[in-house]
Amino acid sequence: MSDPRDVIAVKRDGGRLAPDELRDFVLGYARGEIPDYQAAAWLMAAYVHGLDEGETLALTRAMVDSGTTLSLDGISRPTVDKHSTGGVSDGVTLVFAPIAAAMGMAVAKLSGRGLGHTGGTLDKLESIPGLRTDLDPETFERQVEEVGSAVAAQTADIVPADGALYALRDATATVPSLSLIAASVMSKKLAVGTDLILLDVKAGSGAFMKTPEDATELAVACTTLAREWGRPTRAAVTDMSQPLGEAIGNALDVVEAIRLLRGDIRDRLRDAAVMFAGEAASRLLGASMGQGRANAATAIDSGEALEAFRRMIEAQGGDPHVVDDPEKVLPAAPVVRPIAAERSGTISAIDAEALGRASGDLGAGRRKKGDPIDPAVGIVFLPDVGDAIEAGQEIGTVHARTDDDAEHALGAVHDALTLTDGPVEPPPLVYGWHG
Ligand code: URA
Repeated sequence: MSDPRDVIAVKRDGGRLAPDELRDFVLGYARGEIPDYQAAAWLMAAYVHGLDEGETLALTRAMVDSGTTLSLDGISRPTVDKHSTGGVSDGVTLVFAPIAAAMGMAVAKLSGRGLGHTGGTLDKLESIPGLRTDLDPETFERQVEEVGSAVAAQTADIVPADGALYALRDATATVPSLSLIAASVMSKKLAVGTDLILLDVKAGSGAFMKTPEDATELAVACTTLAREWGRPTRAAVTDMSQPLGEAIGNALDVVEAIRLLRGDIRDRLRDAAVMFAGEAASRLLGASMGQGRANAATAIDSGEALEAFRRMIEAQGGDPHVVDDPEKVLPAAPVVRPIAAERSGTISAIDAEALGRASGDLGAGRRKKGDPIDPAVGIVFLPDVGDAIEAGQEIGTVHARTDDDAEHALGAVHDALTLTDGPVEPPPLVYGWHG
């Protein structure tokens, strides 16, 4: 193996690493032979100078090869994986997986934890008492076949290099790099051989890519990697200029997902989940796009998706009663404070990253590697861009450990809003599809 200091120095000076050098460095880190501080220095250099297409491919390949891969050959239903590049109140996976399972597909997904200001599906799921995400490959595959969906973490067996680098990026402010995100997302997707990969590439204030143009570049980088592996992939660039749903936390997101699966919520989060499930059905089940979406809506309205969620939770060791009475089963924060609008007007912009950070500051995210998260805390924020609000109107709630924390979060929420007097056109849900 090259001296890690030489590999760091090449990237520090804006040079290009040969695939083997990059591979040895990444695999050495995954094996614990390269310490965090050297990997962190390399990540910062990669963040500052970027990686070219060849380096991104080599990084992705090394991450996939750091563990075993799952062919899913024994799965009897068409298989699909869906992944978001990260957003605020982005609970699409929580509802997409049971909807797709209820429609006759099988969802096999390696997910991530909270990253930067964004929430992570694993952290959300783990707020359900007893639920485990560290599934070994056999258990994961068996669950996909028997239950129709499994959402698990990178482990010592599957893409361990992404598990290690992901946690380090979160703690070193090196997340918003196109190449690092593309390699991280795609390594998890390429390690599991689903028939279809769906990517939700977020654009806007709550995303790592702040503009649709940058998000499109990321979508193209991801679909290019998929093409190298010969894997059918569709990537949607979707709006993240405001929180997608209402809940910004962990247990709060699970409550929201269950309400949505009960048919009680009809918002952009539901529209996004139905859109992805419809896309999967059109690619895997031969449905038309319109029919696929209609079938996804029926899976929710019939209660079948909720039952599919119950089965997945139970299979992963979680308390299945959470779907009947989420508020009773899930941890709750001791301090709940209403958010009252400070003045009247139409919401013209929401700093979704600031809301994500405010939720993180309440304890829903991590400051350093391995920090525990507080599953109970977070923010529920109700209005969308384009909504008119009245001074004093309750526009959400803050769920905190202490009064001081709640006060701080309330200030951050007010600061995150921009109001205007005239009408405001809401942003679209989707900017375009790629792949
Ligand atoms: N999701 C991932 O899996 N990795 C990233 O880097 C960002 C979002």
